Amino acid sequence: MSKFKLIAKLLKLVKSFRSIISLAVINGIIGNLCSICISLFAALGLVSIMGYDVGINLIVIIVIMIVLGVIRGALRYFEQYSNHYIAFKILAHIRHVIYEKLRVLAPAKLETKEKGAITNQITSDVETLEVFYAHTISPVLIAIFVNGSIVLFISIYTNFVLGLIVLVFYLLVGVLLPYLIYERAKKDGLSYRNMLAKYNAKTLDMIRGRKDILLTNSKELFIKNSECDTKELVNYKRKNIMRTIMTRGYVDVFIYLGAISIIIAGYFLSKYHLMNPLLILVALIVYLSSFAPITALANLPANLNQTFASAKRLFALLNEKPIFEEKHNDNKIDFTSLDVNNLSFAYENEVILKNINFSIKKGEAIAIVGPSGIGKSTIIKLLMQFYPYNGSIKIDGKELDQIDHNSLYENICMFTQNTYLFNDTLRNNIKIAKPNASDDEIIEVLKQASIYEFVSNLENGLDTIIKEDSINISLGEKQRLGLARVLLRKPKLLLLDEPTSNIDSFNESIILNTLESLKKDMTLIMISHRKSSIRIADRIYTLKDGMLYE
Ligand code: ADP
Repeated sequence: MSKFKLIAKLLKLVKSFRSIISLAVINGIIGNLCSICISLFAALGLVSIMGYDVGINLIVIIVIMIVLGVIRGALRYFEQYSNHYIAFKILAHIRHVIYEKLRVLAPAKLETKEKGAITNQITSDVETLEVFYAHTISPVLIAIFVNGSIVLFISIYTNFVLGLIVLVFYLLVGVLLPYLIYERAKKDGLSYRNMLAKYNAKTLDMIRGRKDILLTNSKELFIKNSECDTKELVNYKRKNIMRTIMTRGYVDVFIYLGAISIIIAGYFLSKYHLMNPLLILVALIVYLSSFAPITALANLPANLNQTFASAKRLFALLNEKPIFEEKHNDNKIDFTSLDVNNLSFAYENEVILKNINFSIKKGEAIAIVGPSGIGKSTIIKLLMQFYPYNGSIKIDGKELDQIDHNSLYENICMFTQNTYLFNDTLRNNIKIAKPNASDDEIIEVLKQASIYEFVSNLENGLDTIIKEDSINISLGEKQRLGLARVLLRKPKLLLLDEPTSNIDSFNESIILNTLESLKKDMTLIMISHRKSSIRIADRIYTLKDGMLYE
């Protein structure tokens, strides 16, 4: 993607913020002009003391300078305020866009091993875009308007040759220098962002596996790996800082070369009576005090190439097509039957299911058994519209890939071996299944899942905060809370993916008893590699070599 296309896309992403961005830019232009005008009036005061008739009284000049100073102060505040207001509003807006995209791409996208990279995109990649919205758009526009006005002023008020010199040095510092730096730093920016994403993914992995790192005493190995990655990142940062320092040096050299050029040109122009020599002073002071917007441009590329790299990664995510296109239509269901015919499926090239067939009617319970890794969970995932498939899966006679996604999820629910509880109250953790559920409804499902007694004995009951990683409750309690959450949805077809495989036989029998008592209202498909957990099934299927046998 070319830079211009990227900029256009970044601007399009935030077109609803156009009016407030314009306001911030106008604010910045007036503010910067005020600041330069303070120096200009100081110069005019000085040359008027030296005998040049500037057409304004000295007292008036001083009053104007004071007024401009006050206005500049107020505008500076509003400029900073509006730029940051815009940036954070925009970042929030972009995060919404990304979450919406991830929702469409999920669950297949989230099943992959890119969680760290996704985390990086939602956090630091988006954060990096702040540079573009708060520190690029307005500085560029401000520089064009403010420094354009200065070139005109110097050309008209002093001499057009001086105006031309000022223009050349503005372009050198504000356009050529940033362009050259950008070109040199471009490749580094993208590799740094990718490096950072990889580093974050690894760190996230390490945090998740911290217990196993401790248990296997492999701390040293992980620290060493992490140090290597950090060294790479530090090397890049060092290069970046060196570039920033060098840029500052070049900027200063160019500014003073410009000033010397003005003095020399002014000397010759006044020698040949083409301008008053005192006006050299005016041009010089205005020129030197007008560089703030231009130096802001010179400092852009060091961060801008990273911003563009982040934007590229972000647009790549936003352009991704979902593996399974959700349907939103009138093809609704009210579960009565499921018929699977000649179902085949492969992950990339690995064939998992070969022409499998089974059916289930409302009120029945079936179990699918087989060793670990044979493809049992894959069947459940296909029923939940995770992936496209070959063959036919029909619910109420309607092909699964044509059924309205929301209607499917209202009818079917999945209960897995590892319930995730959020770092929130117990009540909110159950309520995510039905946000408007009353406490009575929550208590009813807690009782059904045989976890009510445990909850009512807690000091804060439903208000108990579940700590991160659910460390304040046991695995069995966690699964029973998970069951309560699932039951709150009142699914017509419940898919159970080894929900009791990680817990003790006491908790397993509680969950199985609950499921057995609910059998008449709920159709069940259970998956297990344990005999004990399929005792409630009416029919049992075995999955072997990709094929299903009753
Ligand atoms: P089971 O539930 O019987 O233990 P799964 O259905 O989870 O088995 O997995 C079947 C096979 O497919 C395994 O070899 C597993 O590694 C592979 N697999 C599972 N999910 C994915 C995926 N998202 N991408 C690629 N391979 C996968």
